[in-house]
Amino acid sequence: MRVLVTGGAGFIGSHVVDALRDAGHEPFVLDDLSTGSRDNLPAEVPLFPVDIRDAEGVRRVFDEVRPEWVSHQAAQMSVSRSVREPRFDAEVNVLGLLTILSESERVGVRRLAFASSGGALYGDVYSPAPETHAAAPISPYGITKWVGERYLEFFARYRNLPCVALRYANVYGPRQNPHGEAGVVAVFSTRLLSGQPARINGDGRYVRDYVYVGDVAAANLAALSVELDRRFAAYNIGTGRGTDVNELEAMIRQECSVILQGRGATSAIPLPEHGPERAGDLRSSLIDASLAARELGWSAQVAIQEGLRRTVAWFAGQILR
Ligand code: NAD
Repeated sequence: MRVLVTGGAGFIGSHVVDALRDAGHEPFVLDDLSTGSRDNLPAEVPLFPVDIRDAEGVRRVFDEVRPEWVSHQAAQMSVSRSVREPRFDAEVNVLGLLTILSESERVGVRRLAFASSGGALYGDVYSPAPETHAAAPISPYGITKWVGERYLEFFARYRNLPCVALRYANVYGPRQNPHGEAGVVAVFSTRLLSGQPARINGDGRYVRDYVYVGDVAAANLAALSVELDRRFAAYNIGTGRGTDVNELEAMIRQECSVILQGRGATSAIPLPEHGPERAGDLRSSLIDASLAARELGWSAQVAIQEGLRRTVAWFAGQILR
């Protein structure tokens, strides 16, 4: 299939591109490179450097590519920026999405998969939340993901565009930006491999459901390709298992130590430093992905130890050249 991946030069999108190519499909990328990079993509994959807010530019890409599937990953994805600049957040995450949906309908896309967010929709949850859990978004980012899903539902029902929303848990893996606010695994891996201590907010007892990016890419492929009898569906994409920041840091430190010792380091990586709590951080966020298992045949395959091993090895390859 010809597949347009918006945000395909970013962290998750570039792994979606890899998964599509591995399955024999033909991906094309639309990305304004605001946080993504050409370096995340194989040279053969066509990249259109276009902003999804530019309706004319997006139209030209759809005319040229004529995609059969769309994987919509492009977004303003900083929660704190959404709080500071809710209007900008809505321009990208609502109006930009509407442009992608309208163009998909116009050229007859067969299915669109959308990157939604479990954590931003469900808020604090102490046991894995199913899709039926009440949505209670508090940040503008969470609000636009929720609104985005409602637009998907509208286009699926009334505009002949089948759509699937994938509510990701906390995604981690190679190519995640260590300078963003979300990627704690990327941030800790980079600091520890450079011999600096991790900085943990508050007591570190913040539980998250960490899902490996390769599994998230596989979920996108399943969401586009599996036969579904519903025109709109939303699925949680996570593991249902919680890890707190203290445990996560200890596991990453272990992986980094093995790599650094293998390169002849003699001193131990310093222990983490604890700073103040970050206002508004959820205490616990866990999602139940059993619906995706039943309907998409998808479940997370990479356990956290293995995912962290792969991720730290990748960052080591970037940092310790
Ligand atoms: P990312 O920043 O690496 O990827 C986003 C990509 O979209 C980047 O390549 C960026 O250049 C591009 N982009 C941003 N604004 C654009 C615009 N106006 N026009 C065109 N391209 C634009 O982030 P990511 O972690 O890969 O996130 C991908 C998607 O997954 C986002 O929709 C995000 O909200 C969602 N998500 C991510 C997580 C996570 O844990 N990383 C969790 C839940 C949901």
